[in-house]
Amino acid sequence: MNVTLQHLTKRFPNRNKKQGGEVVAVDDFTYEIPDGKLVGLLGPSGCGKSTTLYMICGLQAPTAGKIFFGDKDVTDLPTENRGVGLVFQNYALYPHMTVLQNILFPLENLKGKDRPGKAEMVRRATEAARLVQIEGLLDRKPSEMSGGQQQRVAIARALVKMPSVLLLDEPLSNLDARLRLQTREEIRRIQRETGITTVFVTHDQEEAMSISDEIVVMKEGVVQQTGKPQAVYDDPANLFVAKFLGTPPINLFDGRVEGEWLYLGTDKVLPVPGLSDGSVTVGIRPEGFVPEENGPLCCGLNRLEVMGRDVSFLCTHAGCQTDTFRAIRQSDGTEGTHGNAVRFRLKSAKVLLFDPETGARLRPREA
Ligand code: ATP
Repeated sequence: MNVTLQHLTKRFPNRNKKQGGEVVAVDDFTYEIPDGKLVGLLGPSGCGKSTTLYMICGLQAPTAGKIFFGDKDVTDLPTENRGVGLVFQNYALYPHMTVLQNILFPLENLKGKDRPGKAEMVRRATEAARLVQIEGLLDRKPSEMSGGQQQRVAIARALVKMPSVLLLDEPLSNLDARLRLQTREEIRRIQRETGITTVFVTHDQEEAMSISDEIVVMKEGVVQQTGKPQAVYDDPANLFVAKFLGTPPINLFDGRVEGEWLYLGTDKVLPVPGLSDGSVTVGIRPEGFVPEENGPLCCGLNRLEVMGRDVSFLCTHAGCQTDTFRAIRQSDGTEGTHGNAVRFRLKSAKVLLFDPETGARLRPREA
């Protein structure tokens, strides 16, 4: 089932009475969540991710705009009639019930012809438990399980009603680092196996990038960019998106364009055909630096971090906006030979230029 958001907007009265006015939590959001895909809604705290999710599931009514599930306008439909499965950060399991009873709960609450017989309920609950691989724990109470197992129960409980859309709000936040990794893979597997259209809210860009078919990057209620994770990483629309995606983050420099060449300090580093003279903000991905004896970017080298497969060069440069920046490349055993300076050639696809005032992307003409 594809989910279409049309000019979706949510305004709240400002809680700070002195400031007055309204908070625009989500501003004119138009987007189609493709059928059967997993979409990551991503952005810093307060950017409107949860509000968007709550509007999709019907827990909050939009101030303006519409929501369609397939061709059906569900904007005014109550949550229980939308066929959505919800999983929140705190799993909210019933502590006095067993795992099986927790998973059965949504089915037992169904009324009339929608309510399956007892045997069918148990079959579906067992099937959901199998999907999330907790079928051996059905007799336990939530307190007798790990955080990761409890979150699986919450996912099984959301799946048992066979929702057409699955909505996950920061489902991994309460798990430790190792479990987060494992559980996110699980969510991906379950989503693939069931083919349920899924929206996954997170502030963790790595998490979103790793499991999403598409990501939506939001800032202050406004969608900044949508697309396949790699495409958004490679070709960010603005400085905010470039900074938000990537670990380690993009390195920022103050640069200038002169005669269609990019300068960082006095280093003439790349041709930038079609760009007019002036200041630019330059973002260079850590993997965009190639150490080369006569490379045009001349940097101080503070130290090297050899981390198994990769080596990081922690460098300084007068044009850099931070004290040091990080260049990463595959380790090849020649790392020790650099002394306290290093020169780099830059991979042009990894060098991104932005308007220093607005953060808008500036694109040189393609060669
Ligand atoms: P987080 O990651 O911290 O949960 P978020 O991206 O999910 O953040 P939302 O919870 O959607 O952000 O909030 C978006 C904006 O709307 C914030 O500025 C928030 O303070 C505001 N907001 C959310 N709910 C309400 C409400 N009920 N009344 C007033 N303002 C609200």
